[in-house]
Amino acid sequence: MDQTHIDALRAQPVPPFLHLIDGKPVPASDSGTLDVLSPIDGQLLTTTANGTAADMDSAIASARAAFEDGRWAGQPPAARKKVLLKWADLIEANALELAVLGVRDNGTEIGMAIKAEPGSAAGTIRYYAEALDKVYGEIAPTAPDILGMIHKEPVGVVGAIIPWNFPLMIGAWKLGPALAMGNSVVLKPAETASLSLMRMAQLALEAGLPPGVLNAVTGEGKVVGEAMGLSMDVDVLVFTGSGGTGRRLMEYSARSNMKRVYLELGGKSPNIVFADAPDLAEAAKVAAGGIFRNSGQVCVAGSRLLVEASIHDEFVAEVAKATEAMRVGDPLRLDTAIGAVNSETQLRQNLGFVDMALSEGGRVVTGGSRVLEETGGYYMAPTIVTGVTPDASLAQKEVFGPVLGVTPFQTEEEAVRIANSTVYGLAGAAWTSNLSRAHRMVRKVRTGVMHINTYGGADGTVPLGGVGQSGNGADKSLHAIEKYINLKTAWIKL
Ligand code: ADP
Repeated sequence: MDQTHIDALRAQPVPPFLHLIDGKPVPASDSGTLDVLSPIDGQLLTTTANGTAADMDSAIASARAAFEDGRWAGQPPAARKKVLLKWADLIEANALELAVLGVRDNGTEIGMAIKAEPGSAAGTIRYYAEALDKVYGEIAPTAPDILGMIHKEPVGVVGAIIPWNFPLMIGAWKLGPALAMGNSVVLKPAETASLSLMRMAQLALEAGLPPGVLNAVTGEGKVVGEAMGLSMDVDVLVFTGSGGTGRRLMEYSARSNMKRVYLELGGKSPNIVFADAPDLAEAAKVAAGGIFRNSGQVCVAGSRLLVEASIHDEFVAEVAKATEAMRVGDPLRLDTAIGAVNSETQLRQNLGFVDMALSEGGRVVTGGSRVLEETGGYYMAPTIVTGVTPDASLAQKEVFGPVLGVTPFQTEEEAVRIANSTVYGLAGAAWTSNLSRAHRMVRKVRTGVMHINTYGGADGTVPLGGVGQSGNGADKSLHAIEKYINLKTAWIKL
């Protein structure tokens, strides 16, 4: 990956994107399109099909037909594995093209995007391809005249609604296990980050996935996403995104066919720094990266910094220094540490949170404003606010932007109490040299993932899922497979 290659790719025009249904590109049934604005400069990049409910229904019908005739689920596991491995290879072979297209669409800094997007997506698809012929049924310990068998079956049609922050990585977390287990999938990418995911879906067909097994419909969440949620023919709905949408998806399920709904929602993850942390300078650098990468648009972002009072001022100064060293700028430059915010709406929302924090007694230590406005793009300086009380908006509500709130604490008990005082429970971290305290923090802080003396970076071998209003049903690892299978009992009298 070098700058010249990236610059050549960014100069290429992006053709309009259509739905992918039954293996073919299909326009919206009413020919509608959505403008795609690049967050890099606010300019029109291309258009996507603005799907209708009828488009979604036809994608679901195609996925259902593909499932029922067994063109994928009925193939021997070795054949399915071959296709998925080929798909992973194609994603890798087209990694830079996919990453640059994605960055032009969503604004993530390229250095991070290349690893976190095609790199991670290929790895995930490969992981589940390799796992698919290692998922066995079971024989129950029954009376001798009975054979009790537990079959693991694909569920049928999976609907996957994907957010805009890491479309390929998160898309692969759903597509990998869903397809590996033999399901058909209908994808709904996010309005402001559809392009690279649509391209990745096309590559699946090139790898030999039969038409109809993976369909993808672009458009507005409240139109095509709602149609997917309300469908009587989707068996499982998997989602990553905001709590408000997650709540709606549960309602859609209740109002339609009671489809299974798995939600990976937001967080307000506490990064807890004790005075006995092994290396405070390292903790400060990682704390800054843990919130500001991808402009804070990371579900597990460490957005609450809880610092032991005795080191508060000194530690905040270190984090501010590390933050100010992170260059905000053109996300397609390799030396940029923080790229663009995904959309103007999101940027305005972020700035609103800063204003609210100030009105609630917070103090901005660094950042706090829009920058590089002359580019036409959506950029925000990474922002640190101190004096955030545990009940302040900045401590309670997910910003999903580059805003870090700092709260001091006196004791371990107080740190745990503050850490657990939100409706969320996605991720967290504790920095300490005390082994017992480290383990106590893992047990006591209510989250799906707890880091010790690091932040982020958990790979595909371990689950990622939340507790509380951060969601249910983990992505990643072999555990994710459970979402995409049914257990079926065969009770046989011998
Ligand atoms: P954000 O507010 O950060 O954009 P959302 O939860 O709205 O997060 O978006 C995540 C995904 O959910 C996107 O693909 C979006 O299109 C989709 N979505 C938004 N609203 C709905 C809805 N009412 N029904 C189904 N999907 C939706």
